[in-house]
Amino acid sequence: MATDYYAVLGVRRDASQDEIKKAFRRLARELHPDVNPDPKTQERFKEINAAYEVLSDPQKKQVYDLGGDPLSSAAGGGQGGFGAGFGNFSDIMDAFFGTASQRGPRSRTRRGQDAMIRLDIELDEAAFGTTKEIQVDTAIVCTTCSGEGAAPGTSAQTCDMCRGRGEVSQVTRSFLGQVMTSRPCPQCQGFGTVVPTPCPECAGDGRVRSRRTLTVKIPAGVDNGTRIQLAGEGEVGPGGGPAGDLYVEIHEAPHAAFQRRGDDLHCTVTIPMTAASLGTKVPLETLDGLEEIDIRPGTQSGQSIPLHGRGITHLRGGGRGQLIIHVEVTTPGKLDPEQEELMRRLAKLRGEERPLGEFKPGQQGLFSRLKDAFNGR
Ligand SMILES: [Zn+2]
Ligand SMILES: [Zn+2]
Repeated sequence: MATDYYAVLGVRRDASQDEIKKAFRRLARELHPDVNPDPKTQERFKEINAAYEVLSDPQKKQVYDLGGDPLSSAAGGGQGGFGAGFGNFSDIMDAFFGTASQRGPRSRTRRGQDAMIRLDIELDEAAFGTTKEIQVDTAIVCTTCSGEGAAPGTSAQTCDMCRGRGEVSQVTRSFLGQVMTSRPCPQCQGFGTVVPTPCPECAGDGRVRSRRTLTVKIPAGVDNGTRIQLAGEGEVGPGGGPAGDLYVEIHEAPHAAFQRRGDDLHCTVTIPMTAASLGTKVPLETLDGLEEIDIRPGTQSGQSIPLHGRGITHLRGGGRGQLIIHVEVTTPGKLDPEQEELMRRLAKLRGEERPLGEFKPGQQGLFSRLKDAFNGR
């Protein structure tokens, strides 16, 4: 039986191209090997790629909708013409007439739901990656009944109302003659079996809630909202069905000194006018430890000093962003008589007693701040 590409992408069969594209992008972000190197996840990543290849291509989609698998026919070289890519005749009949739809008793075992947990991390943990222990509360398989739902020593019995078929039929007369209709068996809810003595631990559900501690590897470069997928760590399904996935959503705590924009970090240092003019060194605790920031003589307010490779590690590999230090120069006010005398002397020596100023259109400060906002994320 061909893979259900719609289910792989989690879209309805009548989904639009736009919905298909959105679903694919969302999954691709979550399951990308860089975010999630886990082999099971990579397997799913391949699946969604295959599903998208088929469903995004109108021709392949049509073949698939008619019951064929366009990917397997491409691998076989393709015979061309009508019939290429079709599995067998009964597949096509199933596609047209829905004879493949569910018949007989439904399984008590179903896949569990995905779960999501929020994880708060610090900026340096996002920059370099980390390993975290998290507590998760999910459904796990009931150990008392091993997920069967029956009390120890008992077992599920074939339903006597439907004789295990899961549905009951009724014959009614109409003007067309006798019509037979089927509906799910009311005694076993369509399961075909009944559990006379449910497990006391899980009340017959086959699963119980439990708190576990998981170790999660957080790759370097994650950002607010990044989701890390842990395959099979979500809720166990009813009847001991396979577990859904667990998504760990990253929330990055604000840092006291640095603001993150993409993989760059920004901070502002305020220095007095004298230091800006003469040059100085200021200590800064970067993510990599204490560093001396060299303020060159004659540094202007608004100037920025980039430190390459001191930002966040790029999630997709290949180095780190920069740490950009924006310099703000403070003008000394409230001068005592001696300082004022010195200032006046300095102004005279520099010929700046009556500066004409330099006029430009607009507000420089405001413009540069706006530019920063646009250049940021
Ligand atoms: Zn149980
Ligand atoms: Zn029944």
